[in-house]
Amino acid sequence: MPPQQRTIASGELIPAIGYIRVSMLMEEQISPEIQRAAITDWARRNGRRIVRWIEDLDATGRNFRRKIMKAIEGIESGDAREIIVWKFNRFGRNRTGNAVNLGRVNLAGGELQSATEDVDARTAVGRLTRGMLMEIASFESDRIGEQWAETHAYRVASGLPANGRPRFGYVLRGRQPDPLHAHRTLRAPDDGPERYEPDPITGPVLADLYRRYIAGTGGQKLAAYLNQTGLRTTRGNHWSDVAIRGMLDRGFGAGLLRIHDPNCECNQPANCSNMTLIKGAHQPVISEEEWQAYRRRRLRVAATPPRARASIYPLAASLRCGHCGSRMTPCAEGPEPAVRYLCSGYLRKRTCLARSARRSAIEAIVVRELAQWADDIAAEAPVANEPSQATIQPERAKLEAEVAAADAAMDALTLKMAKGIIPEDSYIRARDVLLTERAVAAAALEEDDRPAPLQRHEYVPVIRTVVEEWLTLRPEARREMVADLLPEILIFRESRRSAWVTLRAAWGEERTFPI
Ligand SMILES: [Zn+2]
Ligand SMILES: [Zn+2]
Repeated sequence: MPPQQRTIASGELIPAIGYIRVSMLMEEQISPEIQRAAITDWARRNGRRIVRWIEDLDATGRNFRRKIMKAIEGIESGDAREIIVWKFNRFGRNRTGNAVNLGRVNLAGGELQSATEDVDARTAVGRLTRGMLMEIASFESDRIGEQWAETHAYRVASGLPANGRPRFGYVLRGRQPDPLHAHRTLRAPDDGPERYEPDPITGPVLADLYRRYIAGTGGQKLAAYLNQTGLRTTRGNHWSDVAIRGMLDRGFGAGLLRIHDPNCECNQPANCSNMTLIKGAHQPVISEEEWQAYRRRRLRVAATPPRARASIYPLAASLRCGHCGSRMTPCAEGPEPAVRYLCSGYLRKRTCLARSARRSAIEAIVVRELAQWADDIAAEAPVANEPSQATIQPERAKLEAEVAAADAAMDALTLKMAKGIIPEDSYIRARDVLLTERAVAAAALEEDDRPAPLQRHEYVPVIRTVVEEWLTLRPEARREMVADLLPEILIFRESRRSAWVTLRAAWGEERTFPI
């Protein structure tokens, strides 16, 4: 692009673009106001006139290219002669970016100025100095990145979340509020090692949220309930459906940490969605069984259309047309609501026939046959080759014990160093050994992607509760329990006379009955 600079008469102010950028690195965050003041001041003292401000306040740096290009285009089009930055390190995000951007500015006859670094770019020494300042900035940025990765790995190996943020339901010990940044914390060595302890008030509330969700209460109702209690998020905001589900999904209350999958080969862990759950160092507020039940309901809800989720009809979550796989919609008959279930494929798109069944008939079959099924399972002798919980649990228990032992040893070790019984270098060596042991055991405990199913005989008490309490259970609790037992209830109708229902049970069996 040819330089389009017009000659500037002596005494005339040189037109310049003020470029402000907030770095994504915490350590370099200088407020836009400070940058603007310094640039304005420098321009006044040095005979520059700011014709335009370009602010790049996107801390993620994602729009960086677009914004800096506007400034460079301003030089190329002749609107301005110079770009003024607060420091040279604001100009590029890395070495290549710096060099390319500066090259374009110089090629167009423009110049880059720093408001706080006294460099005369007209001389060879000045240009060398500027190059070195940019190089130092790149080096600093690399170093901070490395430190961050190191700290991150250390924290994960210690069973701590990647950042020391407060967590709902827990008291964060060993850290104190950062006086310079709201919502951030700093280490507080006086308070012992960093750790999360269940909060006596919000801990039980967190457990209660999981239990209510398992029993069929949706995210919106949970948010309303929590907001009513006056409890706020760790950032002091009101709760929303999304915030509640996000918090419960992260599984912190189940003693878990959500981390970037260590096997992932991407190099952008901060933006990667490939996450995995590992066991943390903190105490869970709910049991393993409750966590699995929570995950089962989450998966089920995700696969259910919104209208069926809130349904008060006990079979709503499981019912499907056996011919086309569509959901079955409750339909009125005269003034009476929801008398029949009708294939929604027929109802909405006519992609199926008018397959239907009386709601009362289906519900009666489900209750009667579930009772029979429970009796049949209970009457059978335990099958020898069925892997029982008793054989699965010891392995898990052993790993959990290993993690707990490593944690206890760490605590004892930290105490010894604090009391001056052992020197710091022995502490560090012993600590690294312990952390490695802990990481190995914790990784082996890593969550399976699918929630663990119960064993066949473990469903018997659940079935009996549903059957016996059929009329007294809250509708949504009954719906969730049925869905947990019978993930699919398929309705088939060939003609007016010929119809049947297939019950597919969570334990992998199915039974079919005429309607
Ligand atoms: Zn990744
Ligand atoms: Zn159908």
